[in-house]
Amino acid sequence: MSAPSLESQTKKTHTNSMKVHNFSAGPGILPQEVLQQASEACIDFDNLHLSLLEISHRSKNFEKVMDETTALTMELLQLDDKYKVIFLGGGASLQFAMVPYNLLRTDGTAGYVNTGVWASKAIKEAKIVGNTKVLASSEDHNFNFIPKGFAVPKDLDYIHITSNNTIYGTQMKKWPVTPVPVVCDMSSDIFSRKVDGKQFGLIYAGAQKNMGCAGSTMIAVREDLLGKTERTMLSMLDYKVHIKGGSMYNTPPVFPIYVSLLTLRWLKKNGGLEWIEKVNIQKAQAIYSEIDRNSLFKGTCEKEDRSNMNVCFVMHKPELEPEFDKMWKEAQISGIRGHRDVGGYRASLYNALPLESVQVLVEVMQAFEKKFA
Ligand SMILES: *Cc1c(COP(=O)(O)O)cnc(C)c1O
Repeated sequence: MSAPSLESQTKKTHTNSMKVHNFSAGPGILPQEVLQQASEACIDFDNLHLSLLEISHRSKNFEKVMDETTALTMELLQLDDKYKVIFLGGGASLQFAMVPYNLLRTDGTAGYVNTGVWASKAIKEAKIVGNTKVLASSEDHNFNFIPKGFAVPKDLDYIHITSNNTIYGTQMKKWPVTPVPVVCDMSSDIFSRKVDGKQFGLIYAGAQKNMGCAGSTMIAVREDLLGKTERTMLSMLDYKVHIKGGSMYNTPPVFPIYVSLLTLRWLKKNGGLEWIEKVNIQKAQAIYSEIDRNSLFKGTCEKEDRSNMNVCFVMHKPELEPEFDKMWKEAQISGIRGHRDVGGYRASLYNALPLESVQVLVEVMQAFEKKFA
C-alpha cells in the first residue's frame, strides 16, 4: 500500500484533535485553523513553492510576517510609538534575566511581587544581576491569593509583577498603582483580556500559552527606559541591539513568530480582545460555578483572585481521584492534572479552548457527583 497523501494525513490529525478537549497548561491549545495554516506554510509558504522553514528570514516574505506580527501586537496592546516590540528566543525564563540586566542600574533597586514559582524564578535571576526587594509575597499561603495594597518605594528602578500565576490559578484583576515603571510577565494571560499596554514599562510573554507555540517570546518595552544601567552589555542580552535589528540581529524563531501571527489574525478576525475577554469570562464562570456548587470539589484560591485562564481545584476526598480520572479520560478530556506543587486538578482555559469543552468537563463533574456523593 502506498503512503497516505499529505492531504489525508492533515485531515486525519484535524479530525482526531477535534474530538479531544485540550485543557493543557502550556504549551496550550491553538485554534484548528492556525494549526492548519501553519502546517501548510511548512510545505508551501506564500505560494513560493518553498517552506517557511527554508527561506531567508531577511526575505521580503518573512519581513512581511515580522512587520504584521509586530503591528498586530502593538494594536492589541494599544501601544504608541514610545514602545518597541521584539520577538526573541529563550522563553519567558530568559526575560527573568534580561529584564534586570537592561533596566536595573548598577546602584539601583528593583521591587518584586512574589506570587508563585515563575515570580520566584524572576526574583532569583534579578538577585544575581543587582539589588532587589520583595515588596509582597503570598508564599506563606502556597500562593493562593494576590497580595494587594503594598507600598512601592519611589526610588525603585521598576517593579516586577506576574499578571497570571499559571501554576496556582491566581490572576491580577487590578494593576498596582505605582510611581515607578511596571514590568509584567504576562506569559499565561496575554491577549486574554483588554489591557492598556501603556500602563506598563515593559511587558513580556512566552508565546506558548496564549499567543502561539513555544520558541518565541514577545517583549514590548518603553524605549526611554533603556540604556541607563551603565553596564557593558552583551549583545544578545541587550534589548537595544534587538530593537535596532528589528528582532533580526540574529536569526529569529521564524516558525513560532509565524504561528503567533496566525493566532493574532484569528483573534482580530473574531472580534479582538473585547470578544475574547467575554468568552473567557463565560468559560471561567461556567467551571467556577460548578466547582462551588459541586459537593465533591473545592477551589484552591481566594475567590476574588481566581484566574480566568488556569482553574485549580481539588477533591474533598482525594481517594476518589482515580474514579474521576477514569471519567474525564473517557470524555476525551486531556491535560487537567494539577501541577505537582498544587496537586488536584488544573483546567487551563486559554483563548482557543471552546466553551463546549468547558461544558463537557462540567457535565463530567456533575455525573461524578451523582455517582459518588
Ligand atoms: C510558562 C511561564 C513561564 C516560563 O515560560 P518559558 O517560555 O518556559 O520560559 C514564565 N512565566 C509564566 C507566568 C508562565 O506561565
